Amino acid sequence: MGKRKGAVKVTVQCHGCDKTQTLRPSKIERCDAYACTWEHGPREELAPGLVREIVYNAAGGFWGWRDVLATEEDAQAVRRAREIAVLGVAESVVHDAARRMASD
Ligand SMILES: [Zn+2]
Repeated sequence: MGKRKGAVKVTVQCHGCDKTQTLRPSKIERCDAYACTWEHGPREELAPGLVREIVYNAAGGFWGWRDVLATEEDAQAVRRAREIAVLGVAESVVHDAARRMASD
């Protein structure tokens, strides 16, 4: 069988290993990179002001991600999450100190 015109396929490679997926371009969601498992995902820290969009099944069985400029709404959500995380840490430190004092 000869190759039909227009049956172009694109091969994407996993970010973390040699696995590939070969698909028609229309089946591939444009991402910065792709990975076969979560472990093979991005190791780079997100630059400030960016949010990482996760795309499930971006290319066949691979998921993908893209770092995009955060909207003001995203930036607020990130700040809120960070504040909550900081508060959570502070609270557990206080609890530990209280437990230690109680056990003395
Ligand atoms: Zn992989």
